[in-house]
Amino acid sequence: MSATAPTIGVGPERTAEIAAKVEAFVRDIVVPYEQDPRRDHHDCPTEDLVAELKQKAREAGVLTPHILADGRHLSQRETAIVLRASGLSPLGPLALNTAAPDEGNMYLLGKVGSPEIRERFLRPLVEGRARSAFFMTEPAAEGGAGSDPSMMRTTCRPDGNHWVINGRKAFITGADGARIGIVMARSDASGGTGGACMFLVELPDPAIRIERIPNTIDSSMPGGHAVVSIEDLRVPADQMLGASGEGFRYAQVRLAPARLSHCMRWLGACIRANEIATDYACRRQAFGKTLIDHEGVGFMLAENMIDLRQPELMIDWCAAVLDDGQPGGTESSMTKVAVSEALMRVADRCVQVMGGTGVTSDTIVEQVFREVRAFRIYDGPTEVHKWSLARKIKRDWKEAHA
Ligand SMILES: Cc1cc2nc3c(=O)[nH]c(=O)nc-3n(C[C@H](O)[C@H](O)[C@H](O)COP(=O)(O)OP(=O)(O)OC[C@H]3O[C@@H](n4cnc5c(N)ncnc54)[C@H](O)[C@@H]3O)c2cc1C
Repeated sequence: MSATAPTIGVGPERTAEIAAKVEAFVRDIVVPYEQDPRRDHHDCPTEDLVAELKQKAREAGVLTPHILADGRHLSQRETAIVLRASGLSPLGPLALNTAAPDEGNMYLLGKVGSPEIRERFLRPLVEGRARSAFFMTEPAAEGGAGSDPSMMRTTCRPDGNHWVINGRKAFITGADGARIGIVMARSDASGGTGGACMFLVELPDPAIRIERIPNTIDSSMPGGHAVVSIEDLRVPADQMLGASGEGFRYAQVRLAPARLSHCMRWLGACIRANEIATDYACRRQAFGKTLIDHEGVGFMLAENMIDLRQPELMIDWCAAVLDDGQPGGTESSMTKVAVSEALMRVADRCVQVMGGTGVTSDTIVEQVFREVRAFRIYDGPTEVHKWSLARKIKRDWKEAHA
């Protein structure tokens, strides 16, 4: 693996080739697994099922397709095409190792990890030998970090060559079963007013206890979304990413591309849901003609066509901004809102077009609807992005009128 893990452009032909391989693998190998009964009590795919899928991807040469063998990461515009193809099945990102939170965590470690950190923590992720979790959100009932990360209550304090972390976290995707954790805490070195810090930890660790895993509307992420307590977790000082107080800056490095890659994967899932709904509407008869010939249904599919094109364009625009080296906070907020809202409309129409079949688990349409609903909340709820955009509008107006 390269020491620098830079982002590269491999060109349209090479990208198209990778994406075509990924798409063929998802359609031919992964899709038949959608009815596989191996699900845990939260309806998430079991570790056993995911390991089998990953092995198939490894053998087909498509595991972690957005990171090349020498460790270089595809550009964001190229990643968009590859991740969209991997998302054509909700199981695709798990099989191909392009799923959240690992994909975002790999990106972060590739960008800011030292060579030692990359060797120890990034390599097992890229090779699909380990899963990871990102510990930021805290229980709402305790007034912890949620939409507003500055409310973080989890603390860390230096103790010799270590930091000691205490607190509780919530909605930690994949914590159950993860081998690597990225934990956010607030330094209490200056009486609780210190800055945010980010730590890499090996899991499981007895100081990190999974309290419970609530049932949630979505079911694509192994391990679910755990509530976790952290009690006197000792982390060697060299496992802090960056310096004390830089945690939020590093979280930002991860957040813009990570929310964009959710857009990429869920766009793929909605493209496939729309294919299934279209097939249904073109075959199913009612009142003497096929459903698509009823204007009400035809118009829903026409609106889907429009709502699927808009995300593609927004994703490509935002990816180009990130590839240009800009932080992309505003662009990724705009894209996340536009894409998650458009995809919600698409998924809802797919369910509607398919009548009763749309709400059964006989096809992935029902699951995609549930997944996209949750996507409107994680990586920043729609309203929080709009709120931060409104603040920017006001700032810009003030500057223009100063
Ligand atoms: C499926 C799923 C997976 C997740 N995975 C992870 C994970 O792996 N790691 C992790 O750290 N976190 C994770 N999260 C947590 C996620 O990031 C938070 O749910 C999200 O940031 C919102 O925080 P909250 O739930 O505390 O909502 P709150 O902060 O309580 O907000 C509730 C609602 O208030 C509204 N709101 C809040 N602020 C504003 C504002 N300024 N203007 C207008 N309206 C506002 C929004 O409508 C928002 O939905 C996950 C969440 C979900 C649902």
